[in-house]
Amino acid sequence: MTTQALDQGSQGWTGQEGPLLPFLGLDTLWLQLTGTICNIACRHCFITCGPKNDSHPMMDTAEVLALIEEGGRRGVKEYYFTGGEPFMHPDIFPIIEATLRQGPLTILTNGILITPQVAERLGGIFRASRYGLDLRVSLDGTSPQENDPIRGKGTFKTILAGAENLVKAGINPVFAVTTIHSSYNEVEGRLGFMALLRDKGFSPPRLKLIPPFKIGREARRGGGYEADEILGVEDLIEGEEHMLQCGSCRMVTAKGVYPCPILIEEPGARMGDTLAEGLVPIRLNHPACVTCHVEGFSCRT
Ligand code: SF4
Ligand code: SF4
Repeated sequence: MTTQALDQGSQGWTGQEGPLLPFLGLDTLWLQLTGTICNIACRHCFITCGPKNDSHPMMDTAEVLALIEEGGRRGVKEYYFTGGEPFMHPDIFPIIEATLRQGPLTILTNGILITPQVAERLGGIFRASRYGLDLRVSLDGTSPQENDPIRGKGTFKTILAGAENLVKAGINPVFAVTTIHSSYNEVEGRLGFMALLRDKGFSPPRLKLIPPFKIGREARRGGGYEADEILGVEDLIEGEEHMLQCGSCRMVTAKGVYPCPILIEEPGARMGDTLAEGLVPIRLNHPACVTCHVEGFSCRT
């Protein structure tokens, strides 16, 4: 059996075996459509995306279409697009249409580029497709005072405007909220967020809470992992491969294949050039794996 270790790293997280996570088969394919290129530069971005960061470049349309076709052949059940900001890709619409001929699609976006025209086009594609199209919009608080210091000045307003355009076009987005404000770890804070969404016409309100991963720019904002924050060989619970997304997903960027969307900038996480090279068990020996394990977290919606 071939095994890929997520070992090493310039930060020195190594020498540790980490628990072995079986690979159940590829049912979810992530594509880092616009690489690390984003129209904003959030202070908590765990892959340090921004307008000037092309560490992972934008993916070629032909490569994306070939991967979607390969995903179909391999029995992929759902597709996810992320970046960076996927709506910066010049061929985003034909890519969405091609993907929806294969299976359901979720797009992670900051919403800023979702003008009424973009939303209308998405609504049309959504209504014509036999598979589901979901949009996940990131927003980090219920006010500009909470969100804007993290995502940038004025972004609370522009993100909500993009999401409201989606609703007008018939798509009720999921809001992704990183729990850097501790109130969103509490029931009251979550209910407050839901109330805001309901007031704004998002019905039913849909919320996905995401724990901060202490890597990339987030490590500089809130502090990184301690050197001993690594899972022990025996730490996984029975059946955890069904809960952790990396038991059945892989991420492809213009630079190759990775176990998940979280680790694409982490040294040692690259699994190979082709999707086939990534379809093997992995050792969870990166500190970010502790966050997934402890929080029971999956990037899936
Ligand atoms: S968190 Fe999302 S929106 Fe913010 S810089 Fe990173 S990729 Fe862009
Ligand atoms: S960071 Fe999370 S999703 Fe990624 S390999 Fe580790 S446990 Fe799996």
